[in-house]
Amino acid sequence: MTVESYATGLRCIECGATYPLAYRLECDKCPGLLELTYDLDELGRRGPAVFDGPGLWRYGAVLPIARPEHRVTLGEGQSPLLDCPRLATLLGVKRLLIKFDGSNPTGTVKDRSSTTAVAAALQFGYRVTSVVSSGNAGSSIAAYSTRAGLRSLIFVYERASAPKMLHIGAAATDLIIYKGVYDDLIGHWDRLVEEKAFFDCGASRNAFKQEGKKTLAYEIWEQNGFRAPDVIVAPVAVGETFIATSRGFRELAQLGWIDKAPLMVAAQATRANAISRAWRDGAPLKPLKIGYTVAEGLASGNPGKKGEWTLRLLRQNGGIAGDAEDEEILEAQKILARTEGIWAGPTGVATLAVLGRLLAKKQVDPARTICVIISETGLKTEAEVPSRQGTAFDYDSLRALVHSRLAQ
Ligand SMILES: *Cc1c(COP(=O)(O)O)cnc(C)c1O
Ligand SMILES: [Zn+2]
Repeated sequence: MTVESYATGLRCIECGATYPLAYRLECDKCPGLLELTYDLDELGRRGPAVFDGPGLWRYGAVLPIARPEHRVTLGEGQSPLLDCPRLATLLGVKRLLIKFDGSNPTGTVKDRSSTTAVAAALQFGYRVTSVVSSGNAGSSIAAYSTRAGLRSLIFVYERASAPKMLHIGAAATDLIIYKGVYDDLIGHWDRLVEEKAFFDCGASRNAFKQEGKKTLAYEIWEQNGFRAPDVIVAPVAVGETFIATSRGFRELAQLGWIDKAPLMVAAQATRANAISRAWRDGAPLKPLKIGYTVAEGLASGNPGKKGEWTLRLLRQNGGIAGDAEDEEILEAQKILARTEGIWAGPTGVATLAVLGRLLAKKQVDPARTICVIISETGLKTEAEVPSRQGTAFDYDSLRALVHSRLAQ
């Protein structure tokens, strides 16, 4: 059975102007971004039983795609929510949950927004998609576009890891490698969006794309026994994941299905920390010239209007922002693998590194239930293998080795 969509239209986040459900990126009356609206009264009356079926489209009621044939899927969503007692003990936290989004079809949280972006491209009759990417969005949009039978123009950063490049090369119809950081190209590319050369699968404006990531909130709530954790730590590049997750919990509160939305923590890499810096200084958002960070997916120095929206949500709702150095991020990657067996990429564990810092600074209460979004598998990382020196065994030498190891 297909879950019916309760989407009703679009609303400007600045002036409140409303628009019918059509492809539109900004308000006519002011420069504000748009967000989707739903018939939450009706949905509230129906209750959570409207959610049905597997994967991300289980939450089709709160997504803006009406027709089942537009709901392109590769099996995204329903990623595990893992109780992590060993890591909790190490961090001195009462209860630690990890939402591991590395289990998505292309290994990252991006699949949640790619599925709704490409579905929207189909819904609005587009034949071509495009995105500018440091790697993850590119491979994800390429995979979903191909799955939907659409052409995809994928612009990818020259320093993207080899696994990401290989993946895009295989799945995209057109892979174009660019020089310079993401921010340098995005301004020109956004102008081509205006010309309607292709469907906008970028993170800066498209409300339909962003909406897919909202399912993080619905899944965490459902998997946690229909309760919201006290604290959510979300990764932030331009803020799409953060905004969408906040929106999801806000809707759940409006629906009366949770008492209170969780405290939201925005996690950035120190080398791309425009939002956390502005939050800390109580200052307006100022674009930064950035270089390389191991958290490749967080490398945005100019998060634009979404960045401003993220900052506003942090300030309005009493959220917290923080950032972590590359060395701390790589250390968090090892700790997560060693304590809980979860292998995540550097972009994916920046949240954990930031939580470590905020706990040390006593900005987050360790007596709370804390949920950390780990947004990327480690299997897309490019790194030097430490050593490939092997040993040849016969039975006796093998037995001697096993017993000596077990005696330790
Ligand atoms: C893109 C990305 C993010 C977050 O980016 P936002 O634009 O802020 O949503 C987080 N983790 C990974 C792995 C990503 O690829
Ligand atoms: Zn407006």
